[in-house]
Amino acid sequence: MGVDAVTDSLRHPETKSLQQIAASLAGYDPQALPVAQAQAFIARLMPQVQAVEMLPIRSALGRVLARDIVSAIDVPAADNSAMDGYALRSADLSPAADTVLSIVGTGFAGRPFEGTVAAGQCLRIMTGAVMPAGLDTVVPQEFVKVDGERVTVPMGAVRAGDNRRLAGEDLARGAVALAAGRIVRPADLGLLASLGRAEVAVFRRLRVAFFSTGNELRSVGEPLDAGCVYDSNRYTLWGMLQRLGVEVLDLGVVRDDPAALKAVFAQAAASADAVITSGGVSVGEADHTKQVMAQLGDVLFWRIAMRPGRPMAIGRIKAGGSSSGGSSSDGSSEHAAILFGLPGNPVAVMVTFYAFVRDALLAMSGATPQPLPMLRAASTAAIRKKPGRTEYQRGSVSRAADGSWQVTLAGSQGSGVLRSMSEANGLVVLAHAAGDVAAGELVDVLPFDGLV
Ligand code: AMP
Ligand code: MG
Repeated sequence: MGVDAVTDSLRHPETKSLQQIAASLAGYDPQALPVAQAQAFIARLMPQVQAVEMLPIRSALGRVLARDIVSAIDVPAADNSAMDGYALRSADLSPAADTVLSIVGTGFAGRPFEGTVAAGQCLRIMTGAVMPAGLDTVVPQEFVKVDGERVTVPMGAVRAGDNRRLAGEDLARGAVALAAGRIVRPADLGLLASLGRAEVAVFRRLRVAFFSTGNELRSVGEPLDAGCVYDSNRYTLWGMLQRLGVEVLDLGVVRDDPAALKAVFAQAAASADAVITSGGVSVGEADHTKQVMAQLGDVLFWRIAMRPGRPMAIGRIKAGGSSSGGSSSDGSSEHAAILFGLPGNPVAVMVTFYAFVRDALLAMSGATPQPLPMLRAASTAAIRKKPGRTEYQRGSVSRAADGSWQVTLAGSQGSGVLRSMSEANGLVVLAHAAGDVAAGELVDVLPFDGLV
């Protein structure tokens, strides 16, 4: 069930240009933007996909629900037994002595007892079998003594309502079982199935184009010329995007040539909802990337108060050129894609992706934001940290002998040392205002599991 790029526009909540937004923010400093401010700015800009497709529920795993799932039935549909035993009326139980009841029949899961059960009687019942009218309690079989047609329930063996599942206790008819914006997880597939839903409405996948910039970059499979490096960013980006469940469009390595850059930006803007580039956005850049970005859209160049990953560009770009003064919110103007111009250093790419791009793409996908779980772990060594920037250091968390979490920083923390990301199992996040960390002090760690 494909959807067409042109007819399927995004809904932009914000029609002001980025420049106008920036001008309205008190204390906005693009040369030293705190991470939290950059995140808030980006969140405000994000458009959201509108198109919806129906999928068989298994195909919806990892996708974003487009509509609330309202239960059409009570689950379970009727009061039923939670145990194998004897269903009875709690009013028959004697508070001061054992109670003797006569068995009138048996109820099985899927084959209910058809008769009636009178006072002083009980029903042999299996787990999942419907409770006949008037019965409210199940005594497990191991608690009773059975003698022919008679059951003795020891005094105090059960209280009223024990071992009975109420109709609708899992999901009540008419209640929202799963809310729109939820990313479907395995438990949700089961829940949908328990409601009898075969198909579910999800937002179409977000389309994300990406490419690398830099004359020094070579792609795998090419010879490595003197002074060149293999392009690794397109691989880490591809991996991170795959994990988000978006549709990816790899546009390769683009040389530092204005015409080539313009052509690829135009292609990316026309065919994707978001465009991610790496490289070419730092202050000293001699190349044309920044110039071309500025020509093609409404773009801001930031230096973020963070380490690694200081330089970054954010904007809206259009295939046909400048999109200052708003976006395609009215649906009639040309489609604008969101641009994330990430720094070139391989670690910086990953850190800025996790810090800014991940949540932004999830919001664009229609997902309701969920905070990422953080661990508090004791640093095994002192860490130097300058107040006034957020630092993301690569570390390995493990359990200490007493069961508490501890974290050790990976060897080299250079922003070009990708091995540190590979060796680490989490990012130590040192807050903007924080200073040096003493050995043994607790720090926040964002574990990669669940993130990457
Ligand atoms: P830049 O932000 O373009 O100045 O790049 C910063 C550093 O990252 C330079 O050493 C680049 O060679 C390196 N770099 C940029 N893009 C990539 C890439 N796609 N793969 C590997 N290294 C890169
Ligand atoms: Mg470069």
